[in-house]
Amino acid sequence: RTEFEDRDVDTLCPFCGVGCQTTAHVKDDKIISVDGRDGPANENRLCVKGRFGYDYIDHAGRLTKPLIRRDDAPKDWQAEMRDGDYSAVFREATWEEALERATGGLRAIRDEHGPFSMAGFGSAKGSNEEAYLFQKLVRTGFGSNNVDHCTRLCHASSVAALMETVGSGAVSAPFTAIDDAECAIVIGARPAQNHPVAATYFKRAAKRGTKLIIMDPRGQNLSRYASHSLQFKAGRDVALLNAMLYTIIEEELYDRQYVQANTEGFEELQERVKDYSPEEMEKVCGIEAAVIRDVARTYATARTSIIFWGMGISQHVHGTDNSRCLITLALITGQVGRPGTGLHPLRGQNNVQGASDAGLIPMFYPDYRSVETDEVRESIESFWGKPMDPKRGLTVVETINAIHDGQVKAMYIMGENPAMSDPDQNHARQALAKLEHLVVQDIFMTETAWHADVILPASAHAEKTGTFTNTNRQVQLARQVVPPPGEARQDWWITQALAQGIGLDWSYLHPKDVFAEMAQVMPSLNNITWDRLEREDSVTYPCDAPDEPGNEIIFVNGFPTTSGRGKIVPAKLIPPDELPDNDYPMVLTTGRMLEHWHTGAMTRRATALDMLEPEAVVMVNARDILRMGVEPGDYVQVQTRRGTILLKVRQDGDVPEGMLFIPFCFAEAAANVLTNPQLDPFGKIPEFKFCAARIEPV
Ligand code: SF4
Repeated sequence: RTEFEDRDVDTLCPFCGVGCQTTAHVKDDKIISVDGRDGPANENRLCVKGRFGYDYIDHAGRLTKPLIRRDDAPKDWQAEMRDGDYSAVFREATWEEALERATGGLRAIRDEHGPFSMAGFGSAKGSNEEAYLFQKLVRTGFGSNNVDHCTRLCHASSVAALMETVGSGAVSAPFTAIDDAECAIVIGARPAQNHPVAATYFKRAAKRGTKLIIMDPRGQNLSRYASHSLQFKAGRDVALLNAMLYTIIEEELYDRQYVQANTEGFEELQERVKDYSPEEMEKVCGIEAAVIRDVARTYATARTSIIFWGMGISQHVHGTDNSRCLITLALITGQVGRPGTGLHPLRGQNNVQGASDAGLIPMFYPDYRSVETDEVRESIESFWGKPMDPKRGLTVVETINAIHDGQVKAMYIMGENPAMSDPDQNHARQALAKLEHLVVQDIFMTETAWHADVILPASAHAEKTGTFTNTNRQVQLARQVVPPPGEARQDWWITQALAQGIGLDWSYLHPKDVFAEMAQVMPSLNNITWDRLEREDSVTYPCDAPDEPGNEIIFVNGFPTTSGRGKIVPAKLIPPDELPDNDYPMVLTTGRMLEHWHTGAMTRRATALDMLEPEAVVMVNARDILRMGVEPGDYVQVQTRRGTILLKVRQDGDVPEGMLFIPFCFAEAAANVLTNPQLDPFGKIPEFKFCAARIEPV
């Protein structure tokens, strides 16, 4: 027996932003089962991933020793090498040698080419403490703000719109607020697949009488509980939402008093929406004018209405405009700041909220303070004791482009897999192969790790202790359940070792030391201490006192903007970047599936989940399958202007005619070979949800 003897450990699910609390049951240093706990976001519930997705940590492919690329090994990635024998490419090394090689390469490039030749991608799967240390290393050790993570690929446009309009990038109310809502809009989201435990609250609320309005180009099973289900044309969200705004203004359903007291920009909105009547917009969005008016009335006249949205809203070239429209709906109707109302972008990864709060983004220090504001920068410089760059850094896709341009030459990537998650994958992989020095810290030989010069074996979620912030702004403690395998080390320890190797004098002894430092520099953590989390497991921020649970509802008395008012920002109609044509007549959209999480690095190595969904599929409408002359289960070829993949066709009634849906978790038929890297100009998020494609039998 070790110190980790047979026992039960209270911790968290490692997958989505719901942040379900779990109890892991351990025998012989292995997790043998997982149960839900009575956490504020799950009340004992778990979905299939949380309950059965734990054994990926025991997978034979776990990295257990530091690896160094052999001098003569090519940097190209080869799919067939996944979890295979990598001894021809990498050799095992001691930690001492690997750290020296990693930091020697980083130091050499920084010293020769300067801070802007360096960049880092941290992870929304890591803890708050890991995110904080990672961005601090890049800012104080590399010397630039070139630090980002996968929030850029999911809700960056939502955060851009929220910061611009209401002054806070977090949700205004937890998803459990639906219990108090007379009406709830769920748009561009499929909670039953991607936030399954949250979906159980939505279903329960609908059964109790909440009018549930589902709006999405694809159908979904949550619609069975809906009062309205609107399958609008893909990429035409702004047309639909502007028509709702038109109706609310024309029929004087807005809250005049709230608008006058709490918002600015209403007059401009009145002018700008005049072109967007439901009768005009039905031709654009494909939803009848009468239905648009009915939905607008239902939302505006309910005593309490709340809006939830997902990446169907954010992952467009007009993603920021989509969010602006949703925020405007809430602002002009006063549906915010009260129980049962609010704005809730459903967060994807388990800690995308916390990683963003901790400053793992190129334009903000911790707590969303701009790197370009002199007073802010000077105060952080004095706290961290290092001068810092006054310009915002590169975002994820900009970093990839900057590698191609020769600007970025070295990277440190922790727990992210841009070789799978970035759009136009061939372009991304060519960039990673072009780096002069790449340090990857991960638990598996990911598609990104194949490009690395040094690979540092890290810890899985259950092998470390740290805090995580879920979609509801609940800061929660995850406890170490089992020891990491072999010579794998804790992520905070590895980041600190790299920091020390490039000249920073860090000496944290435990994640709690990091959290204590974060609390000094992040007012959002006021009254939240490590000891408190050890006792209470979860505290919501902002929290007004050490003995209060935190404020679930924010914007009760105005907004944290300069004027204290919510800013209404009208949106124009902007078409998707790449429309279907004769060569590519279909619309391709990508996303996740219930059984697999993001790029599949964890869930495809979890036995039960991999058995449920073992191979790559493209979901297609029955009519399109018939037209192709193939049968469900046959192999087909899907092609866009950026590449071609081969995979099986699955008939799916949720997918409208003319559309293809491909989950992005399958490395052997990677959806992101096909996707369009064109960015939303504000949030810098690629248009994963729309590009032109064709499908053919093989
Ligand atoms: Fe885990 Fe999310 Fe499922 Fe909860 S809903 S068990 S957090 S994947």
